[in-house]
Amino acid sequence: MALVTTTEMFRKAYEGGYAVGAFNVNNMESVQGITEAAGELKSPLILQVSAGARKYAGHIYLLKLVEAALVENDIPIALHLDHGADFAICKSCIDGGFTSVMIDGSRFSLEENIEVTRRVVEYAHSKGTVVEGELGRLAGVEDDVKVNSEDSSYTHPDEVEEFVARTGVDSLAIAIGTSHGAFKFRPGQKPQLRFDILEEVSRRLPGFPIVLHGASSVSQEYVKIIQENGGQLKDAIGIPEDMLRKAARSAVCKINIDSDLRLAMTAGVRAALFAAPSAFDPREYLKAGRADVKTLVKHKITEVLGSAGMA
Ligand SMILES: [Zn+2]
Repeated sequence: MALVTTTEMFRKAYEGGYAVGAFNVNNMESVQGITEAAGELKSPLILQVSAGARKYAGHIYLLKLVEAALVENDIPIALHLDHGADFAICKSCIDGGFTSVMIDGSRFSLEENIEVTRRVVEYAHSKGTVVEGELGRLAGVEDDVKVNSEDSSYTHPDEVEEFVARTGVDSLAIAIGTSHGAFKFRPGQKPQLRFDILEEVSRRLPGFPIVLHGASSVSQEYVKIIQENGGQLKDAIGIPEDMLRKAARSAVCKINIDSDLRLAMTAGVRAALFAAPSAFDPREYLKAGRADVKTLVKHKITEVLGSAGMA
């Protein structure tokens, strides 16, 4: 099966009351762990690549790894650019075989955001590629971009109709209290999401797919494994999975997961190295990281996203 866009995936997810997981990939082990999990559970899948991942692995390596996964797994897979900062990187990914791109103009004024997003949509649609836009600003750290919580802002529901109508985007990322990175909430702080904003946005955009970024739940199990195997990770708190499950049943059709994958991979590698201090075969510890990524993705598909059997 060739790479697909997210159009059909989102239509089915919206009607079926589930969400498709968008997992960030950086290397062969993460591509394999994620796609094996989704393949075995017959779940549709979005693999996404950030500017940082492209810099680390190289565009062509990531594209070819994902194409290899398509040969091995009989499920629909979309390849998506996560947080495209400008027209140039979006164009490069559209020309380079991606089926979906995000143009993140959320740091601009509404008018400038509409301008850059519309330009990307015009080019993308002429090539059969779909586009995700963003309104509102998430706090946290994404690659090199750090947004302080005082500079973050919830999405204004009264802007969404104009934004979607004037840009022609295919999906919209909104800010309702999720954030990038593993340290979303301070210990003792009560995680909260603004479901009232999500409801108001979906009321104004009936049938339109909504995207949640920064939606890792930061499993305490992995945090503990890292801490107990020589890691100095401080206590981290993410988005509770029952909140994400609730979002997946609503207009949210795409849920982004990155930090949870990093934690799972790191926990697997750390535990393997700690258990065998004299080991020096990278295959041994990378295999352990890949296995933990696969376990995590299976858990997300069955317990959070609800996308098992929907391929
Ligand atoms: Zn994001």
